[in-house]
Amino acid sequence: MGKQPFTLPPGSKFRLEEFDPGYTGKYDDDDDAKKDAKENLKRLYELQEMMYAQGKRALLIVFQGMDTSGKDGVIKDVVGAFNPQGAHIHSFKVPNSEELAHDYLWRVHKVTPARGTVGVFNRSQYEDVLVVRVAKLAPKEVWSKRYDHINDFERLLSDCGVSIVKFFLHISSEEQVERLRDRQETPSKQWKFSPGDLDVRKQWDEYQRAYEDALTLCNTEHAPWYVIPANRKWYRDLAVSTILVQTMEKMDLRYPDPVPNIHSYSVE
Ligand code: AMP
Ligand code: MG
Repeated sequence: MGKQPFTLPPGSKFRLEEFDPGYTGKYDDDDDAKKDAKENLKRLYELQEMMYAQGKRALLIVFQGMDTSGKDGVIKDVVGAFNPQGAHIHSFKVPNSEELAHDYLWRVHKVTPARGTVGVFNRSQYEDVLVVRVAKLAPKEVWSKRYDHINDFERLLSDCGVSIVKFFLHISSEEQVERLRDRQETPSKQWKFSPGDLDVRKQWDEYQRAYEDALTLCNTEHAPWYVIPANRKWYRDLAVSTILVQTMEKMDLRYPDPVPNIHSYSVE
């Protein structure tokens, strides 16, 4: 995919200015990337099929990013390659009263993927150190402990057979303006236009800092963060699908053994 690294070794400090959101590696355009993108999606389908058949491992995919960064888009374009029977998508919204009456990981743990399946989070436990921090929904003494909680939670999942991969969809502030204007102007997209997003946009820098801390403090061997250049949608999809293939190739997936003496049965 080219030279820009998408992640850093655990413990390294992420500085988002060092990641170019417009990076497209060795590819010039969409057409150029089409063949590789298509192959990735085919391979993802095959790997998921094996995971489902084997029924031992699970995969949790986390998508985070600023408004308009393409979380919905990448789910449609890449996650759409999986067999829907074995993939479950969860979007995390403002917590409801029942969720607020529990610890913040309660709603998350309930929807982690079962063995054999893929779980996809559109937003995630990380909102509790992002919007909660920037919008001051909880004091620092509360949210600052959460990086450790989240690491422990992800370690628990990993110890129980869940592979975790986390994507930060990285767009530039200029690209976000374009996309918000497009939502405002295009009739079929106007339903996505939310004036509240403009308030969040005003806190762009605070969010970038909060993201840098989440990436830095929660980037582990078993649950790595990837910073995906997401100004170009086609490259975003290619980068995510490539990393997913690499992640799943390392999961030791294989079809289970057939029943003993399978050929001794006569099928009539
Ligand atoms: P959307 O992604 O447009 O569907 O919006 C979901 C909204 O829910 C975003 O504004 C998130 O910041 C917000 N949200 C998600 N999780 C939390 C949370 N734990 N606390 C507060 N707001 C949240
Ligand atoms: Mg939104």
